[in-house]
Amino acid sequence: MSEAQFKRALAALLLVEIGTRLYYIKGYREFKRATVKHEQREKTSLTFVSLGLIPIFFYVLTSRINSLRLPFPAWLRWLGAGVIFDGDLLFIWSHRALGKNWSPFLEIRKGHALVTEGPYRFIRHPMYAAIALIGIGVSLLSANLLVILAHMLSMISMYLVRISDEEEMMIEQFGDEYREYMRRTGRLIPKLSILIDTFSESVIPSLKSLHL
Ligand code: SAH
Repeated sequence: MSEAQFKRALAALLLVEIGTRLYYIKGYREFKRATVKHEQREKTSLTFVSLGLIPIFFYVLTSRINSLRLPFPAWLRWLGAGVIFDGDLLFIWSHRALGKNWSPFLEIRKGHALVTEGPYRFIRHPMYAAIALIGIGVSLLSANLLVILAHMLSMISMYLVRISDEEEMMIEQFGDEYREYMRRTGRLIPKLSILIDTFSESVIPSLKSLHL
């Protein structure tokens, strides 16, 4: 299996993520912001995230960092492609569910609504979970030490700081409604109870209607 094939697969899978973002950024510009939180800290962490992406472009577009390749077997690298694909699907699903409430920053828009449907029914941060899945997949598929290290550094800043800041902002805005929502859902991994509820509310009745 040639390295060029892995690079092409990675580029194609990342283009899905980039395309989705560009599509939703258009809508984002049309809506006004009401409050913005931690703007400076946010800009710093988004700069880190962007810096962490540079080695991916180097890996895909040049052969300069090919010598930093780790000895991952081909099956593990293709498994990485599958993980990115799942991450892409979750990313699109989250964008669709969040709609005009999405923002690249921590902010409350005019007419902001609390979304608890789609993937938000199960976890509070499906978009960040999708980005984490894509990051794990990119690490496996590229098998490149620099890509992996840069990516880990940029993600740590995002996950350690941003999620707590965002939840604090959501509690300020939505109060008990958000606290209640937090009780039902996990941050990045669904709680067992919501999976069981969903199974018994929707899967079992539809199996019954099939008279199985
Ligand atoms: N953390 C979420 C959303 C990321 S986008 C995720 O990972 O899926 C960040 C913006 O989404 C924040 O500015 C916040 O205003 C908004 N947001 C986060 N959770 C939300 C929810 N459940 N309903 C509506 N808006 C939400």
